[in-house]
Formats: sequence, C-alpha cells, structure tokens
Amino acid sequence: LPVIGVMALQGDVREHIHALEASGAHAVAVRRERELAGLDGIVLPGGESTTIDKLLRAFELFEPLRAAIAGGLPTYGSCAGMILLADRLIDGIEGQRTLGGLDVTVRRNAFGRQVNSFETDLVVDGTPDAPQRPVHAVFIRAPWVEETGDGVQVLARVPSGEAAGRIVAVRQGEVLATSFHPEITGDYRLHRMFVEIVAGHH
Ligand code: GLN
Repeated sequence: LPVIGVMALQGDVREHIHALEASGAHAVAVRRERELAGLDGIVLPGGESTTIDKLLRAFELFEPLRAAIAGGLPTYGSCAGMILLADRLIDGIEGQRTLGGLDVTVRRNAFGRQVNSFETDLVVDGTPDAPQRPVHAVFIRAPWVEETGDGVQVLARVPSGEAAGRIVAVRQGEVLATSFHPEITGDYRLHRMFVEIVAGHH
C-alpha cells in the first residue's frame, strides 16, 4: 500500500487518517522531519493556517516540508491546507508564509461573514462517479482560488449563489487542493482520487 502522511499539528488529523485507510493507503501522522522519510504522499488538513504556519516553524517542519513538496511529493491540502499550498496568498495575516507548490493565488476567508460556513453539492472532475454523483462539500471559513497558473486544472466551482463560479478544487500534477473538508462527510472519493494520484506516481 502507498504510505501517506497526515500533517498532525492541528485539525482533522484522525478523520484524514481514517479516510485514507478506507481508500487503500496506509496513513501515518507526521509531526517531525524524520517522519517525512519514506512517505509516498502527504495530506495537509484544515485548521487555522496562521497557527499551522507558526507550528510548522516551532516543529522545524516548515523548510523540510516545503522542500519535499517542491521536490515532487504528492500532496493534498484541504481548506487551510489549500492556503499552505498556495504560491500566492491574499488576506493572510502580516508575516504569514505559505509552503507553496501550487501555482495559484488563494484568498483566505474568502466567503465572508454571511456565509462563513455552508454546505453544497459539487461536481468534482476526476472523482469516481463524477458527474453523476456530486460530492457533498462542507465549507468552514474557507478560502477560494482566485487565480490559476497555466499548469493548474480546475476541478470544481461553486454551482450557485453569491459565490457562483468561484474555484474550490484544483489539481496541478500530483498536488491536489480543495476549499472544503471531505474528511468529515463519510464520502471518501476525494481521498480515493488522491490515493490514485499517489499510486500512479510510483
Ligand atoms: N480560515 C482558516 C484559515 O485561514 C481555514 C479554515 C479551515 O481550514 N477550515 O486557515
């Protein structure tokens, strides 16, 4: 089985581990640089990107993780994880850094106060059974992708409402990111898609 790490500094770590195990991978929590060794891929869970940024530095994981992603380690970032993957960030706090690896501009807390948190059904290109079976997407103070670079594939957009058309799932090579949290819905097709990306990488 492919071995996939879950960055375990904050957020839905156990849910991601469970989702990955249910999707044909062996999942391990990662808190230390040495735990990056031997991974076939890594998941960056949601949480609070500003806090995760500080914890990454405190755990001396920022630079090794940045280098691993830049070196081609397949990576899936959800919500705050999407923010961490962004090469360019709008509305970060002063001094906030990202790991980068995804040629996109991400807007943090993009959906604003009215719709801080919401749920919707989305067609996500590339998930098993798309487009017949949409993914139920849960957004919690979520970012969106404001701009994509040339090599970036848009997998999903908000279907309706004020934010209609906004990009909420993208892929660039072996890097996948979603604004929403598939680990909490019991529908693990996004995780399966990531495990397949990781497996195809061998
Ligand atoms: N708003 C959070 C941030 O800025 C992301 C929210 C989430 O991951 N659910 O990091």
